Amino acid sequence: MNFELSKEHLAIQETARTFATNELLPGVVERDEAGEFSMDLFHKMGDLGLIGLPYPEEVGGQGGDYLGYALAVEEISKVDASMGIAYSVCTSLYGGSIMNSAAPVEKKREVLQDVLSGKCMGSFGLTEPNAGSDAGGCITVAEKDGDSYILNGLKCFNTNGPLAEYTAVYALTEPEKKSKGLSCFVVKKGTPGFTVGKVENKMGIRCAQVSEMILENVRVPAENMITASGDGFKLAMKTLDGGRIGVAAQGLGIAEGAFEIAKEYLKTREQFGKPLYKNQYLAFKMAELAMEIESAKWMLYKAATDKDSGKSYTQSAAKAKYLCTNAAMHVTTEAVQMLGGNGYMKEYHVERMMRDAKITQIYEGTNEIQKLIVSGALFR
Ligand SMILES: Cc1cc2nc3c(=O)[nH]c(=O)nc-3n(C[C@H](O)[C@H](O)[C@H](O)COP(=O)(O)OP(=O)(O)OC[C@H]3O[C@@H](n4cnc5c(N)ncnc54)[C@H](O)[C@@H]3O)c2cc1C
Repeated sequence: MNFELSKEHLAIQETARTFATNELLPGVVERDEAGEFSMDLFHKMGDLGLIGLPYPEEVGGQGGDYLGYALAVEEISKVDASMGIAYSVCTSLYGGSIMNSAAPVEKKREVLQDVLSGKCMGSFGLTEPNAGSDAGGCITVAEKDGDSYILNGLKCFNTNGPLAEYTAVYALTEPEKKSKGLSCFVVKKGTPGFTVGKVENKMGIRCAQVSEMILENVRVPAENMITASGDGFKLAMKTLDGGRIGVAAQGLGIAEGAFEIAKEYLKTREQFGKPLYKNQYLAFKMAELAMEIESAKWMLYKAATDKDSGKSYTQSAAKAKYLCTNAAMHVTTEAVQMLGGNGYMKEYHVERMMRDAKITQIYEGTNEIQKLIVSGALFR
């Protein structure tokens, strides 16, 4: 067992940390306030080679691994969790749908390389108004018509939806088989009938753009169906296992970002004639949070390492997602409290981090669904 990061991993961490500090931190409060996503910053992340990190060069990736990718999402999310999820959706959910699919390598390269280089974004269209935790309840349909499929339906809560050049859309090719009749299609922005619906006004991750995506008689070439008919549900579940590593990294980054702010505050703020940290109550609180963060971190690194070494990672990814995102919610809530009145003010960052933390417990399988996955394996 080796708990040391390699030189390559440390270099990725440093690159992402420097980018987050120098480029993301200035303006993060203002971007949150405006609810605006910066494509310029996203392009820069691509230029640094972060988006394609875990995928092979033959499809336009960097030839690295998932641990490196998780480290990068963690660093980005310490400062800007909206950018963290926009990144993670491109890499884990859109990228994962393509990489885990049966598409030939030329097709993978065609629909991936511009996303992995940060030229444009990808998104993942699984959830529907009546198919959330029960993702197999999708009713979007894809009907064969000559050498195309015609897609009709409505996807909701689509992260990057309004901005994405490519979307992995899950639709029923054999509706009578329900979830066993689900397949996956790559749909390009601008395809007639494929439009952006309601853009959501959210509590947190306010810069990430999340919307409905409407499909009205959208004609997609049959070659853009990247699964065999009926293999879509399996593809979505496998892809979400990888996605949970990304969300866990986002949660861990949020927790660490808030922890560092609280630590500095407790050192500099004085009340009753001494720095706040000299109150054992607050020092012990920080000790508890440090232990919570560290245990969540090792679970995340284990999940990423399981994936990189070809082991099954469904369980470790579910555990990492649960622990890291609960740590995010707990640490940010305590950080706001420890900063007192200042914690409630935008310029101290922790209120934003608390709002951003909440969604990590909900998306890519709520934390109740993670317990279903873990308990299901215990009693199988
Ligand atoms: C900001 C945001 C971004 C998102 N991005 C994407 C995206 O890019 N692509 C995409 O496809 N989806 C996306 N989603 C959808 C997200 O994954 C779902 O919202 C999530 O899986 C929960 O589904 P739901 O909202 O329908 O809640 P529901 O499934 O209705 O659940 C409601 C509550 O019931 C609980 N619950 C449900 N079933 C059970 C059960 N069997 N046992 C115990 N408790 C249960 C849930 O845990 C939850 O607390 C996003 C959502 C949000 C809010």
